[in-house]
Amino acid sequence: MTVRLSEGAIESLTKGVEVSNPVLQCVNIRKIDGGNGLSRFRLMMSDGLHTMSSFMLSTQLNPMAEQNQLASNCVCMLKRSVTNVLKDGRRVVVILDMEVLKSADQMPGKIGDPTPYVEGQSKAQQSTAPAPTVRPLQPQNGSDGSMNRPPAQSFGKKPMAAPNTPGGSSKVVPIAGLNPYQSKWTVRARVTNKSSIRTWSNSRGDGKLFSMELVDESGEIRATGFNHEVDKFYSLIEQGKVYYISKGTLKIANKQFSSLKNDYEMTLNGETSIIPCEDSHDVPMVQCDFISIADLESREKETIVDVIGVCKNTEDVTRITTKNSREVSKRNVQLMDMSGRVIQLTMWGNDAETFDGSGQPILAIKGARLSDFGGRSLSTLYSSTVMINPDIPEAYKLRGWYDKEGHAMDGQSMTELRGPGGGGNTNWKTLAEVKNEHLGHGDKADYFSCIATIVYIRKENCLYQACPSKDCNKKVVDQQNGMYRCEKCDKEFPDFKYRLMLSANIADFGDNQWVTCFQDSAEILLGQNSSYLGQLKDSNEAAFDEVFQHANFNTFVFRNRVKLETYNDESRIKVTVVDAKPVDHREYSKRLIINIRKLAAQ
Ligand SMILES: [Zn+2]
Repeated sequence: MTVRLSEGAIESLTKGVEVSNPVLQCVNIRKIDGGNGLSRFRLMMSDGLHTMSSFMLSTQLNPMAEQNQLASNCVCMLKRSVTNVLKDGRRVVVILDMEVLKSADQMPGKIGDPTPYVEGQSKAQQSTAPAPTVRPLQPQNGSDGSMNRPPAQSFGKKPMAAPNTPGGSSKVVPIAGLNPYQSKWTVRARVTNKSSIRTWSNSRGDGKLFSMELVDESGEIRATGFNHEVDKFYSLIEQGKVYYISKGTLKIANKQFSSLKNDYEMTLNGETSIIPCEDSHDVPMVQCDFISIADLESREKETIVDVIGVCKNTEDVTRITTKNSREVSKRNVQLMDMSGRVIQLTMWGNDAETFDGSGQPILAIKGARLSDFGGRSLSTLYSSTVMINPDIPEAYKLRGWYDKEGHAMDGQSMTELRGPGGGGNTNWKTLAEVKNEHLGHGDKADYFSCIATIVYIRKENCLYQACPSKDCNKKVVDQQNGMYRCEKCDKEFPDFKYRLMLSANIADFGDNQWVTCFQDSAEILLGQNSSYLGQLKDSNEAAFDEVFQHANFNTFVFRNRVKLETYNDESRIKVTVVDAKPVDHREYSKRLIINIRKLAAQ
């Protein structure tokens, strides 16, 4: 089959006339520096009559050039393109989508004898040449015989006038076609992420800004508004909604803070208009380029990535103080995907506070930062979008996999977890190991978890009378006049509250250990609250004893703090229960099986 080029298409493209799927031959391809370390490809194309070198490949098509699918002499069909007029009047055709019809090695060489196209000097069309599928935007009326009138075939989204925009004449262009050389444009895009307002203050003054991420079917871009534009647009913009946005300043994107696939980013300016778009179902939702968790191992740190996983484990939210003494909330979760690998993700601020990990939801993060903390871990950024159980195929696929088989897998963690209290970082020890390994003998206390059974609880002195004011648990002194004095509050009260401080002996298969339990863990061990126990002690000693008898031989997961303490020149190990929980036998059995396998492998 011979290939026909769409003769006349280059002239039409440069005149901004719509051309449907023109077939062109690549004459030359050149890599240029797109700024900011990015490569762009510039192509000279031929339609058989003319050549023109002002074709630019949109960056999402770069792989076609890098993998040599696009090379001199290959023949391609332009499926989607946009013609931009530069400030000096030159035109650039940005190719958004194309298909190689004949590869370079299938072509003997150049087709025809094209000459460089010069505007206004079009070659007379040879009568033998096939009619190009070219159509002016405003066809003349009644000229049926016009050879420029093709059958009504069109491809992809046609540009259309944006209704109700102040610059109503500007066409809706695809986001992928935006560039700094164009000033009149409108995009129709969904806001997939809207930041909160951030303020800054420095020697040059202060100000505020917000940013949002915009998506249409061609691509995505980040837009930022400052000061006046914050006042003007912030309250108008709703995440998830679609807007017509016209006129903004485009500049090279700072890739350090964004995973968006666009070389440019947009700044809203005094001329920008943003108008809600009602008919928006065809505009896509968030665009994510998910990377398998296993593949994160080989990625460079500080890379911004999109990740989706099952939230296998959720830690409690904590508050930390940053270097510039700001308090922020933080929460770690463990994410697993079908690669069977697990990675720790740290969420911050509101995302951390509001996250509910119950039911092991699917978590998708657009624009998380990969770090090498603890091997490999992820962290959300100010610009990240956190989506819980998002309505996307990847999420349903993952859910199905996890419910069917994934839940039974332990998953291999890429994050080496440390410190007390973390979800996956439990420092399991037997009581014999605690002694043999001299836990607590260092400068700092050690923490360990164990599964142990209560063998004895001392009921003597387990309750004390404490200050009734909130958050003060200081022991009060009975003034023997109906009043109780708290030294800490320096006050006398007509009442007190009972608090628990238990001494318990716990044992596992190899050893036993005396531990101290305070209020919360003591109530869990005894199965009763302290004020009820206080009443019983004073009113029904038999029932009080019963509670202690009943508590014996129950088994718990204990998390403990251990530290060598010295009283009167005598050092001894003190173990304090941080918390006690019922045994999750499924989890416990899984851990035993892993341990057995490890032993068997040795
Ligand atoms: Zn007090």
